[in-house]
Amino acid sequence: MDHTVPEPPSRRPTSPNGQPQGLLARLSRELVRLPGIGQKTAQRLAFHLMKVETEEALRLAEAIREVKEKVSFCTQCRNIAEGPLCEICLDPKRDTTTILVVEEPSTLHAIEQSRAFRGLYHVLYGALSPLDGIGPADIRTQDLEERVKAGDIKEVIVATNPTIEGEATAIYLTKRLKPMGVKVSRIAYGIPVGMDIEYADEVTLLKSIEGRRDLG
Ligand SMILES: [Zn+2]
Repeated sequence: MDHTVPEPPSRRPTSPNGQPQGLLARLSRELVRLPGIGQKTAQRLAFHLMKVETEEALRLAEAIREVKEKVSFCTQCRNIAEGPLCEICLDPKRDTTTILVVEEPSTLHAIEQSRAFRGLYHVLYGALSPLDGIGPADIRTQDLEERVKAGDIKEVIVATNPTIEGEATAIYLTKRLKPMGVKVSRIAYGIPVGMDIEYADEVTLLKSIEGRRDLG
């Protein structure tokens, strides 16, 4: 037999069916809006935050506030920046005659890690997709055109993803930028190092053949 005295209903964090109530439900509703967080996970996180030390939970809140207040987009390349310009645009050692175009900052980050590129970037935040109603204005290709017009840019390397949307974006950018007298190139996609060719999928094979280089 249960002798525990139940809390008054207004102070109960859960309803009889285990759903969070009141403020906890509100936190759960905010968490479920995050990508990859389902209802169950949101509830678990909300309960977890309620249980941990106040200081620990508020550290998360403070980190979110600081990101929202201090981090924005670079006015030149739209990379993530803690001021008007990002670290790359501010770096005097970068080659300012080449721009590499990516869909997302995560790709920029991966290329930076590889140290394979020392020029500047341009982040589109997406790719052209007429079927989804995403046109040039949505990915602000005009910003890139203005940069090419204004600067001493010699080459634009299009590193959009090897998808239908990424290819459409590459074709569009080539059409717009070539007449400005700038070289437009596409990065080569191909067989990963160490992989047997027979295991590559069709797109990878096609891209690796298209992106072939002269030998000798
Ligand atoms: Zn920048």
